[in-house]
Amino acid sequence: MLNIETVLCRAGSMNNYSYIIFSEDNSVCAVIDPSEAFPIISRLKQLNLIPQYIFNTHHHFDHTDANAELKNLYNCKVVANINDSSRIPEFEIGIIPDKCYKLSPKELSPISCMDKSSLSFQIIDVSAHTQGHILYYFPNDKALFTGDTLFNLCIGGLFEGTPEQMFNSLQKIKELPDDTLFYPGHEYTAHGVSEAYTLLNGNQDIQNYLQKAQNRLQKGLPAGPYSLKEEKKCNPYLRAKSLNDFLNLFS
Ligand code: ZN
Ligand code: FE
Repeated sequence: MLNIETVLCRAGSMNNYSYIIFSEDNSVCAVIDPSEAFPIISRLKQLNLIPQYIFNTHHHFDHTDANAELKNLYNCKVVANINDSSRIPEFEIGIIPDKCYKLSPKELSPISCMDKSSLSFQIIDVSAHTQGHILYYFPNDKALFTGDTLFNLCIGGLFEGTPEQMFNSLQKIKELPDDTLFYPGHEYTAHGVSEAYTLLNGNQDIQNYLQKAQNRLQKGLPAGPYSLKEEKKCNPYLRAKSLNDFLNLFS
């Protein structure tokens, strides 16, 4: 089983989420999108973990700023999309969209995507927020790290891609199993609420969604994780059935 620890970084400003993922026996550990060194190092110490890897979803500074500091401290290897290697600080291991890998302490070995054992993951290219933005999908562990592509009730801005590209990328997410839990790159639940609430006429689905977010945020926890099933019901950008519906959300 994959353990997942959420670390809030840049609290009160950009509200990034970095994630520490590790195996049950603590033998393998990676940090996803290290935004800010201090809170991540503190949590690693509490958990008594030494990461072997950093995984980046995309090149933006608020997802890669702590690459160098963590690499210097832990001698971990920076893993990112091979097609975006020039823009990733401290880049070391290139991974290839659509390919599958297994998280292991010694090396990141490519595996067959038929191998659905725990700690195996697939790379999904969702270029749109940036060109070369990838998702890390752990099918056996039912976890999806969505960076700045999918947030709670909203999506990432189109810095380098078109709305069409984003629509196509979101279709890849919609094809994944409903019980997959997704882990976004920011706490942006509040940003999407009014649009989603209006579109759903405040129905029971959105009420349930918000109730859960409120309960957790009040306790100082992240709003999520939510399942893709819950998200598909309430996120206007996932609810759009056609490219036309999707484009209307931007007008
Ligand atoms: Zn970004
Ligand atoms: Fe970001």
